Amino acid sequence: MILEDNQAIQLRNLLEKYHHPLPRYSYFPTLKHWKEAEPQPKNKDDWRNVITSCLGNLSGQPTIDLYIHIPFCEQLCTFCGCNIVVTRDHQLANPYLEDIKKEFQFYFSMFPEIKIKTIYLGGGTPNFLSASELTSLFSFFKEAFHGSSISFGTIEIDPRYMEEEKIEVCQKYGINNFSIGVQDFNLEVLKNVNRNQPFELLEQTILRIKQLKQSYISIDLIYGLPGQTVKSIQESFKKINDLQVDAVNLYPLAMATWIKGHQQAYSNFKMANPKELADLHLTAHQVLISAGFSAVGMGYYHRSPPAHLRRNITGFTSDKSSSLLGLGVGAISLFPGLAWQNQRILEQYRQQIQNEKGMPIKFHVTTNEEARFEHIFETLICNKFITLENWRFIESFFKINPASWDMRLSKLTEMKSEGLIILNFNNHKPLEVTPSGILFLKNICGLLDPNNEQTSN
Ligand code: SF4
Repeated sequence: MILEDNQAIQLRNLLEKYHHPLPRYSYFPTLKHWKEAEPQPKNKDDWRNVITSCLGNLSGQPTIDLYIHIPFCEQLCTFCGCNIVVTRDHQLANPYLEDIKKEFQFYFSMFPEIKIKTIYLGGGTPNFLSASELTSLFSFFKEAFHGSSISFGTIEIDPRYMEEEKIEVCQKYGINNFSIGVQDFNLEVLKNVNRNQPFELLEQTILRIKQLKQSYISIDLIYGLPGQTVKSIQESFKKINDLQVDAVNLYPLAMATWIKGHQQAYSNFKMANPKELADLHLTAHQVLISAGFSAVGMGYYHRSPPAHLRRNITGFTSDKSSSLLGLGVGAISLFPGLAWQNQRILEQYRQQIQNEKGMPIKFHVTTNEEARFEHIFETLICNKFITLENWRFIESFFKINPASWDMRLSKLTEMKSEGLIILNFNNHKPLEVTPSGILFLKNICGLLDPNNEQTSN
């Protein structure tokens, strides 16, 4: 949908109005709102009991997805908010992979009946690993399940380190779904964030990956980076026409200098204010739409929108299991009734694995209400509506605090008058998101998020 000028102005004003820091709702409740469950598991046996009761909630033979976190990056991109270890010491990789395997065996020894459906790799930079280390990791999981029906989902890659032999390893193991960190095609902007990534190098990597059978490529782009202007985004982002990628994840720059000291590097730049950010966002959106993409999810653009959309902690996907086991430093696991996070510090994670404690840094017992909200947010983000049954649940949930519910409802009504949602309480879908509203999914979720105090205030 290419917008006429007056529509573009209206949308730009709304982007400015709704520019609030909110979570992406890739899972719920978000880490910030986990409540420390008591008693904390103190040893392997305690932990086994906790997990047994959690896996007991999975019916039949548990089929789960696996997320493997590879934290290493050779260089720090100053916008990055991931749990990473910046190093050029590749000697660290192999021992870490041994810990990953050990961690998996810790779970597998307790629950040999577990079946893995899809394995996702994220980071950091999974292709920090050499071709032989990637082979060792992939073959370990293939062998653990006798090569049975496990498949590999998205692997996040940095094009600067995706040498030919690593692509060949992916080809060998049937890995064809790549999420590439790009951020911008403008080298000057990239240098401002300490990421020297020439367009030609990216183009070659993508061309090579596209030769893989059934390859699927999504790229990440960011607006709000230091040095970006409306003109630079117009000129740079249209290069996407040369790449023929399948999907784009468009993110705002997340400024959080109080937790990310490295963003202090931006003090030499005039960073975009909310008004300018709205201009950059709208420009990026329009360039992507002009290039033939459709906005289908929260910052998610697709050339040919999939019939079924799901989302998990790694992003959008076409399918997922009801549970996700996270392996590696800082990895998050999400099971029905329980969520946990591994140690976030590499040395501490390694010590715990080596001592066979296998204990997380944080765990949260998910309530039935939270599970229901998680389902509602996923449906809203992927299908763009709320069913009548879920709407009734939301209403009855908030009835304990009528003032908060009135406030939320009045803000939703405002969004309706702005053309972002359709509200019809007699319909089997009382809330539906309009095409323009897709750009505001975060805000719609935020209004229905019981943990979002800004809304209730
Ligand atoms: S390569 Fe990716 S994970 Fe590593 S610092 Fe850059 S953005 Fe962060």
